Amino acid sequence: MRVRFAPSPTGYIHIGNVRTAIINYLIAQKTGAVMVLRIEDTDMERSTVESEKSIMEDLKWLGIRWQEGPDVGGNHGPYRQSERFGIYREYTEKLLAQGDAYHCYCSQEELDAMRAEAESKGTAFTYNGKCRNLTPEQKKKLEAEGRRPTVRFRVPDGETVSFRDHIKGPVTFSSENIGGDFIIVRSDGTPIYNYIVTIDDTLMGITHVIRGEDHLSNTPKQILVARALGLNVPEYAHLALVLGPDRTKLSKRHGITSLNLYREEGYLPEALINYLAMLGWASDTGEEIIPIKDIIAQIDITNLAKSAAIFDFQKLKWMNGKHLRELPLDRATDLFTPFIAKAGYDVSDRKFIERIVSVVQVKCEVLSDIGRLAGIFMEDAPEPDDEAAAMLRSEEGRQVIEAAAALFAGEINAGNFAESLVNAVKDRTGLKGKKLFMPLRALITGRLQGPELDQALPVIGFERVSKRIERCRKTFC
Ligand code: GLU
Repeated sequence: MRVRFAPSPTGYIHIGNVRTAIINYLIAQKTGAVMVLRIEDTDMERSTVESEKSIMEDLKWLGIRWQEGPDVGGNHGPYRQSERFGIYREYTEKLLAQGDAYHCYCSQEELDAMRAEAESKGTAFTYNGKCRNLTPEQKKKLEAEGRRPTVRFRVPDGETVSFRDHIKGPVTFSSENIGGDFIIVRSDGTPIYNYIVTIDDTLMGITHVIRGEDHLSNTPKQILVARALGLNVPEYAHLALVLGPDRTKLSKRHGITSLNLYREEGYLPEALINYLAMLGWASDTGEEIIPIKDIIAQIDITNLAKSAAIFDFQKLKWMNGKHLRELPLDRATDLFTPFIAKAGYDVSDRKFIERIVSVVQVKCEVLSDIGRLAGIFMEDAPEPDDEAAAMLRSEEGRQVIEAAAALFAGEINAGNFAESLVNAVKDRTGLKGKKLFMPLRALITGRLQGPELDQALPVIGFERVSKRIERCRKTFC
């Protein structure tokens, strides 16, 4: 079995395509199939080297590996379509010689007019076949006008294209309903996706094409080209679409859709793989938090999801938090460190960073959450935020500050503050529950939400706690 992921390098990788890559990868892992990465860069205006690079980096960051591709080579290369134009040209010659393709001289304006006419009649645009049977004289005349032809595939009349899709089941198209003869080579000589994709899949020995359902309507065109060229067609599995919460195609206006932004916010590869895999497949047991190896054990091309999946941003975040909490401290520290540095703090003391992480790991859903919590440990006396300041200004707030200040001037010292402070303030003020803990939290951390106080206190340290009490006493009492 050989599968492939075939991104177009025209920007950052979209989350829907990431899901396609993940499903291909997981199925390859499951079956021992070879995974091929093919770069579909025939749209010369929109394809960039930077985009290709970022796509590969993102895939690698996710942990997706391929055995053949532009960076690792292989026996079926080249793996960039822009390096395969010579191959496609030969096939174009063959189609032209067989009469399965012809030169079309219709200008953009003429085609636009045909399209507008179809629209005004409320029918779908079908190329009217104007250039189907031009005589050599007619062609010469059109060329003399300076027209540069495209190449169109001659769609056979009255042909049925049927295949069994692993997800959709039996699918049948009639050649009458696929929009008429379609362009396979632009007038500038660059070939079109629908034409070359099957050539590449066949030459690269791809046995299973697993891709988004948005390509389902392209499949009959691709199969007709393969038939005309005598090429084998692969098996297909068209993944149900990923939709936004309003059930329209997932797009930027729903939220983050490019993988690199998830990476920057501190999502974990294992959480993204877990979540996106579940958008195309459901576990037998109904479990949601599943390690990748268990997904691989359960997933199969025969049990992929049949209906569209709704991308739930909150759920992904929740799932990320679950995975984040499971990380061993050492790896969590590795992952959080750059986010603490990005928030502007010194990360040279690994042991200290590890202690911070051990306290806040459970409080974070994404790695970047640590940015707003790190100051609790890293700054001498962080400015209380508005909520915390309001709390400290209240009656209980001032009571707690006074009590803590008195305790720090007396019985509380560096040796006992971490265990004794909370209870000693409780005894002295008579406050308990929320009325005790909220002001204390505001006093010690400058926030109303954050790490558990008993865990945070020893990491913050005696000196800093005493500076904070002093500062709050001056500001609020
Ligand atoms: N380059 C196409 C895309 O990014 C791939 C389509 C396919 O998998 O056949 O949508």
